[in-house]
Amino acid sequence: MKWLARILGKAVAPHRPTPVFFTNALSGKEELFIPQKPGIALLYSCGPTVYNRAHIGNLRAYVFSDTIARTLAIAGYHVKRVINITDVGHLVGDGDEGEDKMTVGAKREHATPEAIADRYAKLFIEDIGELNIDTSDVLFPRATEYIKEQIALAKTLEEKGFAYRLSDGLYFDTQKFPGYGRLGGVCNAELEAGARVEVAEGKHHPADFVLWRLAKPNDLQQWDSPWGRGNPGWHLECSAMIRSLLGQEIDIHTGGEDHIAVHHNNEIAQSEAASGRPFVRYWMHVAFLTMNGEKASKSLGNVVYLSDFSEKGIPPLALRYFFLQAHYRTPLSFSWNALSAAASALERLWKLSREIREESNRIGKPSDARNRFLVTMRDDLATPQALGILWDSLRSEEYTPEEKWGLLEAADAHLGLSLLAPPLPQVLDARDVPKDMQDLLARREAARASRDFATADRLRDELAAHGYRIEDGPDGPTLTRS
Ligand code: AMP
Ligand code: ZN
Repeated sequence: MKWLARILGKAVAPHRPTPVFFTNALSGKEELFIPQKPGIALLYSCGPTVYNRAHIGNLRAYVFSDTIARTLAIAGYHVKRVINITDVGHLVGDGDEGEDKMTVGAKREHATPEAIADRYAKLFIEDIGELNIDTSDVLFPRATEYIKEQIALAKTLEEKGFAYRLSDGLYFDTQKFPGYGRLGGVCNAELEAGARVEVAEGKHHPADFVLWRLAKPNDLQQWDSPWGRGNPGWHLECSAMIRSLLGQEIDIHTGGEDHIAVHHNNEIAQSEAASGRPFVRYWMHVAFLTMNGEKASKSLGNVVYLSDFSEKGIPPLALRYFFLQAHYRTPLSFSWNALSAAASALERLWKLSREIREESNRIGKPSDARNRFLVTMRDDLATPQALGILWDSLRSEEYTPEEKWGLLEAADAHLGLSLLAPPLPQVLDARDVPKDMQDLLARREAARASRDFATADRLRDELAAHGYRIEDGPDGPTLTRS
């Protein structure tokens, strides 16, 4: 990671990584991270289905995996990362039923699935860039670029006796795979109950899932295969791309907790049945971002996008701060008020950092606060506690400005909040703020023009109470978030 060498320089010891602990969904316990190959961490994250813009719930999943990557890199690991782009095969129900998501997107926008995938993959990478997710070393393979590999994997499964054919495609036989559903302790009874609505004609077991779906005449995406023209089942792409890009066994696999029961158990079944060896050493999942108590999801229609922030004058990094205030395994409830509070806290942190930068002349020194911060991050990414250490130590008189700068260096490298080079307060265009704020601004201008300074000051305070700071300069007033 290029940024890491720049920020921490010699502090990184590539050959003897420091211990890091993660909660592993396979055991349900916190475990010492021991990768397959010393010093190297192979990390795969289930990526977005690019039929629509990623919402902020999705973005929580990528801030989470970025925090894992940063923490491991700082601990001395060389991190190899893949985030796949799903551009085929994912049905609305996440199982074998429902409309195909790429087809939904293509119909909605009267475009080809390829054009839809290009549009939303680009927006996704822009969004995660705005959240300081370091993409310089990340591979973003698309499922449609790995059709050959997916067919080869399905063929291996068929040859080894783990698959059977039905009239509409090739299916994985979960009963042939011992211990199917072990991730998250999803037992057979649950699988049967959950899958009851999805039983396809002829399936041997409700949990069996499609590997290759035969095309219907008007399907927009179809390829030749040994089973006929069609497209891959959604779960197959992750197994095939991991195998091609990272190898048969990887260290960490991440995703949202919604993927544990079906998608990740199916990935395990396919990969381990094909290779005959363990697939993933550490499974890690992020809890949901919720809206009014429900999971934020495109299909429920209760979503917010990062692009909604600019009209409210909220910097995208406020979302990253908001996520980090909660532990990744805790559900997080979104509201604009809570996000505004996170934005204010981040602005205060940036202000403090600017002052410490001046006082320390950007010379960082170690301290017990910095050590405690590092240990806390390495303890299953305890970001709320790490933020607590950061705030307490920066405000304390116990530490010198150089020690505080040293802490800020470590915090910035882990948290990705632009603490070392905070953005200048963003000057807003008055036309971009909500209508009631525009009215307050206009009334203040009118009061000033008629030299009614008492009213102008009162309106300025009212704007401040809503989080807007107004300053009068030679070129007129400028508006920023306060
Ligand atoms: P999708 O595009 O639906 O495949 O989702 C992309 C990633 O976002 C997956 O890892 C999902 O588990 C995750 N995800 C979806 N909705 C949420 C949510 N509300 N909170 C946290 N993660 C989510
Ligand atoms: Zn996946």
